[in-house]
Amino acid sequence: DKVYLNGSIVNSADAKVSVFDRGFIFGDGLYEVMVQINGRFFYEKEHLERLQSGLQKINIEFDVSLLKNEILTLLKVASLTDKDCMLYIQITRGVAPRQHSFPGDIKPTVMMYAVPKVLPEINTVNAHVITRNDFRWSRCDIKMTSLLGNVMLNEEAMQLECYETILNRDGVFTEASHSNLFFVKNGVVYTHPANEYILNGITRIVVIELCHSLGIEIKETPISLAELNTIDEAFLTGTSTQIAAIQQIDDYKLYTGNEKGPVTQRLQEAFLKLR
Ligand code: PMP
Repeated sequence: DKVYLNGSIVNSADAKVSVFDRGFIFGDGLYEVMVQINGRFFYEKEHLERLQSGLQKINIEFDVSLLKNEILTLLKVASLTDKDCMLYIQITRGVAPRQHSFPGDIKPTVMMYAVPKVLPEINTVNAHVITRNDFRWSRCDIKMTSLLGNVMLNEEAMQLECYETILNRDGVFTEASHSNLFFVKNGVVYTHPANEYILNGITRIVVIELCHSLGIEIKETPISLAELNTIDEAFLTGTSTQIAAIQQIDDYKLYTGNEKGPVTQRLQEAFLKLR
């Protein structure tokens, strides 16, 4: 397996980073994930723009547009040109003696790898999810590599053989451990506004646009825990998740068997046409 590291493409076993890299010491870095489908990266511009704006938020100076050619070279060396695959990009602040504040004059560490990945046309998962308190920090808009909160919350779902953990903060649903969260109530789609309590997922943005173009009313208004028993449908969105129907939330069953809600299904079919 090939890895891009600071301008070179090497075998993964030879891709080595200093233990003083601030990504390793502090989780001081960002990442991005996108998928290539039918020979092009799905919403590549939006993914790279999110990475660039994240870097600006945390004061890492790096021009993401420099990666465009490097990505093509990496895909070629990895024999993935035009193949369905997943690309992971990580940029950390770089290597410096350990100190909390940002060191001056430091070069970011840039790492990328691609692996084959074929996404189903429609995600047929009918997810059982659990609800937990969103104990993460208050800058969830930053797609940082320090994912301990997300990892711990996701692990609880795995232990219970569930698909995801959906999170609530101060009585309202925010998002899930590695996906965004939508509800449908009386034909209206609801999702948490894109503020500092959620990651503004690219798939989330695409689904909101789809609602507009399909004439489905969409409100960026959070749903509260207390409203849970009044909702008709719920679904998750994410780059690899695409759109996944939620069948059961804790003990609350929305659907059984292979059933899923009509709005979820309509959005899944429209989403497929964007490929
Ligand atoms: N929220 C969180 C916490 C995530 O980690 C992700 C990415 N897996 C998402 C939402 C979905 O974002 P995207 O649609 O850009 O993949």
